Amino acid sequence: MSHNFQFLTWEDVKNLDKEKTVILLPLGSIEQHGPQNPIGTDYLISSYIAEKSSEKNPMAYCLPPIPVGVSSHHRNFPGTLWFSPEVFRSIIKEIFLALKHHGFKKIIVVNGHGGNTASIMEVIGEFNDKHDFVSLLFEWWKDEKILEEVIGHSQVIHADEVETSVIWAVNEEYVKKEKFENLTSSPKWGRYIGDLFLSSRTDQFTESGIAGALNNISRENGLKILEECIKKLDRHIDLLSKY
Ligand SMILES: [Zn+2]
Repeated sequence: MSHNFQFLTWEDVKNLDKEKTVILLPLGSIEQHGPQNPIGTDYLISSYIAEKSSEKNPMAYCLPPIPVGVSSHHRNFPGTLWFSPEVFRSIIKEIFLALKHHGFKKIIVVNGHGGNTASIMEVIGEFNDKHDFVSLLFEWWKDEKILEEVIGHSQVIHADEVETSVIWAVNEEYVKKEKFENLTSSPKWGRYIGDLFLSSRTDQFTESGIAGALNNISRENGLKILEECIKKLDRHIDLLSKY
């Protein structure tokens, strides 16, 4: 039986063991990712990791991704789409409520976009507290150990060497390799006054849309990061299923 939720029948869903089944919800964004990466980068990475983990783990079923996220800070780059945080939280809540209606309570949100994190944590917190849920957040770029081992540092900003390597590893066709040579980037994220943060409107601090290091774009590193993240998610599906 497929572990993509959308390919199940209603009878398949009815027969799932709700106490042990873990539902994966991939989230991301449609936003600029520099001249070399597709605007769907964030949801393409998160849904890849979620799908691959659900193929490995018989207790997991992966929902189709919600591709649009909280990205208005990228809006002056063509193609960026966004939800307000309120609408984004409502969408996650409605999906959680529907899952609850069918008896599910073990959810892992697999997120690919930093701008979504605060909204997701608000909903997860509310459902764990008030709806008897056991839901968790998985974000691939937050694992310092994996990143240190593969690339020697753990700083991932935006459309940089790490994210470009990972989306390249998801699918070779997704990136424009001919753009790699002349990429420019902002060394850090955001605008500041003195040491104090002012704004994350990307067009105000990066012309290319990129922030972070660019010296070491490598599909091989991307493949290693993906492999480790898929293993880590698989391990957490097990832990949650038995919890
Ligand atoms: Zn991204």
